Amino acid sequence: MAAMLSRSSVRVFASAAKDNKPRASANRVVPKASLNDAPKQYIETGAEAPMPTGSLPSMATTPFDNYQFAPIREATVSRAMTKRYFGDLDNYAESDVVIIGAGSAGLSCAYELSKIAPDVRVAIIEQNVSPGGGAWLGGQLFSAMVVRKPADKLMAELGVEYEDEGDYVVVKHAALMTSTLLSKVLAAPNVKLFNATAAEDLIIREDPNVRGGKYVGGVVTNWTLVTLHHDTQSCMDPNVIEAQVVVSSCGHDGPMGAHSVKRLAKLGMVPDVPGMAALDMNSRLAKLGMVPDVPGMAALDMNSAEDRIVNNTREVVPGMVLCGMELSEVDGSPRMGPTFGAMFVSGQKAAHVALAALRKRQAAAAAKKAATGAAAEAIAA
Ligand SMILES: Cc1cc2nc3c(=O)[nH]c(=O)nc-3n(C[C@H](O)[C@H](O)[C@H](O)COP(=O)(O)OP(=O)(O)OC[C@H]3O[C@@H](n4cnc5c(N)ncnc54)[C@H](O)[C@@H]3O)c2cc1C
Repeated sequence: MAAMLSRSSVRVFASAAKDNKPRASANRVVPKASLNDAPKQYIETGAEAPMPTGSLPSMATTPFDNYQFAPIREATVSRAMTKRYFGDLDNYAESDVVIIGAGSAGLSCAYELSKIAPDVRVAIIEQNVSPGGGAWLGGQLFSAMVVRKPADKLMAELGVEYEDEGDYVVVKHAALMTSTLLSKVLAAPNVKLFNATAAEDLIIREDPNVRGGKYVGGVVTNWTLVTLHHDTQSCMDPNVIEAQVVVSSCGHDGPMGAHSVKRLAKLGMVPDVPGMAALDMNSRLAKLGMVPDVPGMAALDMNSAEDRIVNNTREVVPGMVLCGMELSEVDGSPRMGPTFGAMFVSGQKAAHVALAALRKRQAAAAAKKAATGAAAEAIAA
């Protein structure tokens, strides 16, 4: 900058400094009038060059000069938001699938569902204002995201660039993967994200025909800010969303994490470990030597942790599919640290498990309806 100052411009600064008062003219820069002195962009774009010596320099010409927005009423802004939001609440009060938690597992579940079943209405409940869970950074708040093969297929499918390191790939910033995945989910016409909304509880119904005699029939929700203030305010009843299938991906235990498995444990509905589904709850607990609580994730072992998460992704109790790190809480499987492949694939697998459960429920409902209709017809005849 100093090299560009003419004598007159130096004088302007000097006079401003004398009485130490800020002046509008104090930072006038008066460059010499020559196109060669103009920044490269002026020459290339043919835009207006700086003003000649002795006059004020012009501002750069940009495509946004003299900008003017279309007029709008404040009430219009309000209605544009509220009518859509409450319309969505209305539409999704009965959802096909509700996903609790928009971390890497929940988002990849929603993405996969939108791909394999565009007819299925999916509501995502995320307690945080910002969706994405723990996948905005790698471990210890570093930037890069490590994904072990073959989970890199999802990156390739989404068009996220990565460095191929042989057995694993590295995305230069975890936020690149998460924002890309999130953008696909948000663009899907059959998916609605309700963020800043916490799942406070589950809807549990009894049915002697299902395993364990109970199934999950939806979620109990509230604004997260309300959920956080139940101790200080009174009587802040929640809202509800009925669902054919709930996918829970609340992450490992924490202030909000592992919400669903903790609730199921309190209700005596888990643990439910693979291969023990045929046993009743007390036999399972006795076999495991457990009190009715979730065991919690075990110590870190990257190699076994990721396979176990994906392979154990399942409908843990009728109506509820578990995926991502929340599973480690109920299975006592190891934590994996900052490697995210299992989260993505577990979410994708959960979409298929949830869809199968949904189709089964839809078929059962259709059969029941047909039987009721036939019985009514028989009575009428
Ligand atoms: C710094 C750092 C350290 C990590 N350390 C570990 C580690 O030690 N072990 C490990 O295995 N992984 C670790 N990871 C990896 C990563 O956190 C997890 O593997 C991954 O985030 C889990 O994905 P998820 O989708 O299961 O859960 P999360 O990414 O945790 O997403 C869960 C989502 O559910 C939401 N949620 C929770 N409860 C509710 C509720 N009641 N209602 C609505 N929404 C809810 C949360 O807000 C969140 O968005 C780490 C990541 C980072 C960035």
